[in-house]
Amino acid sequence: MSVDNLFPQPKSIAFGTELVDLGSKRPVVITDSTEPLIKQGCHLLTSSWPVIDHTSGQTEIDYPVEIRLDPRPNGLPEEGVGQGYVLTVGHEGVTLVGQTEAGLYHGCQTLRTIVSAGTDPVREMTIHDWPDFTYRGLYIESKWGSDLMTLDDWKAAIDHMARLKFNALGIGIYGCWIVQYGGKRTEFLMVPFADHPELQTPKTLRYYSPTAEAWQVLEYLPTMVTEDSFGEIVAYGKANNITVRPHFNSPGHNTVIPRVFPEISAKDESGKPIGYGFCLSDPKTYSVLFELYDSVIDRYLLPNGIDWFHMGMDEVEAYKGISEDDPSIAIDPWCRCPECRHKPHALQLQEYAIRVCLHLKERGITNITMWNDALDKLDALNEDFAAMVTDAGLQGNLIVQYWRYHEPVLVPPRDLGLRTWSTPMAGYWPNMFTQSYTANISRMLLHGYRAGAEGADAYCLYDPAFDRNYTCLAEYGWNQTTSEDLYQFKSRYARALLSPMLDAHLAVEAFNQYDQVFDATPWTETYLASLLYYWHTYPASRQTGTYPQDVLLEIRSSHMRSATGFQRAAESAKSAASLFAEAQLTSSDPLIEQYRVECDKMVGVWESFATALAALGSYERAKASSAPPERTEFLAEAAERVSKARDRVAQVMTEIERVKSSFLLPQLLRDLSAAYLYFDRLSQELAQLADQASTGGPVSLPPFMELNTNREQLDPFLSSHTAPPQVAAARGAAV
Ligand SMILES: [Zn+2]
Repeated sequence: MSVDNLFPQPKSIAFGTELVDLGSKRPVVITDSTEPLIKQGCHLLTSSWPVIDHTSGQTEIDYPVEIRLDPRPNGLPEEGVGQGYVLTVGHEGVTLVGQTEAGLYHGCQTLRTIVSAGTDPVREMTIHDWPDFTYRGLYIESKWGSDLMTLDDWKAAIDHMARLKFNALGIGIYGCWIVQYGGKRTEFLMVPFADHPELQTPKTLRYYSPTAEAWQVLEYLPTMVTEDSFGEIVAYGKANNITVRPHFNSPGHNTVIPRVFPEISAKDESGKPIGYGFCLSDPKTYSVLFELYDSVIDRYLLPNGIDWFHMGMDEVEAYKGISEDDPSIAIDPWCRCPECRHKPHALQLQEYAIRVCLHLKERGITNITMWNDALDKLDALNEDFAAMVTDAGLQGNLIVQYWRYHEPVLVPPRDLGLRTWSTPMAGYWPNMFTQSYTANISRMLLHGYRAGAEGADAYCLYDPAFDRNYTCLAEYGWNQTTSEDLYQFKSRYARALLSPMLDAHLAVEAFNQYDQVFDATPWTETYLASLLYYWHTYPASRQTGTYPQDVLLEIRSSHMRSATGFQRAAESAKSAASLFAEAQLTSSDPLIEQYRVECDKMVGVWESFATALAALGSYERAKASSAPPERTEFLAEAAERVSKARDRVAQVMTEIERVKSSFLLPQLLRDLSAAYLYFDRLSQELAQLADQASTGGPVSLPPFMELNTNREQLDPFLSSHTAPPQVAAARGAAV
């Protein structure tokens, strides 16, 4: 294999002249260490070695792999984060020396990648390697997708992260968002609290499965709750050098706890609980929250020797969609009780942060992460706050995560003297068109590292199709003192994945075309994504339009020439998909198919819209026509085109169902079902109109937006057991 395929790239590799045929050798690990992490590294190594024969009973030492600790091995910098290793691969054997157990584990991962990547001989080599950021990893949010991940799914995610030499995993275990689907707030609590069953967040989710040719209804609690597996995830992470920390959000993103415990909710002027945010003056607020924190700490963290916790602290502000009764009104999370009313929000939040940190520290949590923005937006992440942190003795314990997922890049301040991490995004909407965040990741880490950030972790939902984002994070989280620019990284990634199945230039071309569609995040996340249902579920969007009919009309208006843009994006996606498909022919790497399906999804969704737009044209011609046979013909054509649009969406869904991770499917398919259901019903209504017209009499056709299908609310059907009403009889009765 080529060492070019190592992600992250080792800091230095010195090659000898001889070739070593690792595939013909049987490794025998020699180590006197019994540390679990080293044993796990050795296990990964030997279980990946291509020709090892466990059954032969052969005892001779064929190829010694000597593994040992040395805090100061030659060739590693004395200053550093203590996770370095020196790996020598020679004819006579391998020597792996780690500065620490973590260093040895990383070295095992490197050697494992080298030996498992192929059977070609490698040149003798000596690698000196160490990371630049101390902490590197992902923060996986509590949302649709992660709520259906099983213990095995989490283990697979951790394995993926460990290969990339990550060592930190934040997992969202509690967070609340606004009303989206089915008129319900979006709330997730991912761990059980036996004493408080009322805190559960059950979901109902309906989607069409083309594979089963039937609608599916899923009524469920998060799998992490039903399996009660968070502790096992924490333990599995630890066994693989990844510290799992729970993210329990407050005081923002909170509707479940204030609703279940109204006495601690933020109050309005009349003292009535508003069910969003907390009264930060009331000691009861802290006793309720701390009881829940303690339960998490006692059950899942301390038994696994974990002293990390993420306390949230983002987006403490007014939002529409907090009230299910009237999602159109914006509700503020700040309490208006007599104690809180006159106290500056900045001071309330500063004191809240200190109080929570002190409690956590008292419980043995010595590393506490929090988001920067809630304090920052109040100008409260300042010298005063830093002084409060120092006075409370928390300076070494509190870590501020500076997050931003778009330009301009957010740089942590040096002058506050606080521990900081940089948090870009690594892909968050598996239900939308896939997203490339390599520009966001590389810039946030570039500037964050130079501003003294100790951690590089990315906000995300876990989807194997975001692999390039994760790998980019791994590369720049490890390497800030060696230079590989983003173009070089992308090129190397493309060749590592797609060569030799594709010629190197074509491998790079596949991702160039992919990037034409998915790498411009302002476009991908917003405009391109408007073809899908998700953003249209937000209350503010519902106030201004209905999906997908208003999207169709908007594209048809052509004021923004958007059809041209979508068409060209689809052409690039098609080119990329065909190159991925070609590589797939001679590769068994399932990741290539993930990339292909993401490209095909964009192509298919656009083609379904383009077909529906053509149907709209047929309908307008039918309306304008006075000759009954012609009118019938145009109506039949419109019905036929819309049914083709429906079938095209179904084709996309079929591929998704076949390829994407099962925990992602319900939400992916629900969003596409919104378009599927609409096209299905519209085609039926148009066919009815064509039938009526064919009976010979004149038919009065309403304006397109007044067709029955365009006047129905289809959303409740996607999040409930309620079957959709029959397609109403077409209104264009013969006159
Ligand atoms: Zn209050």
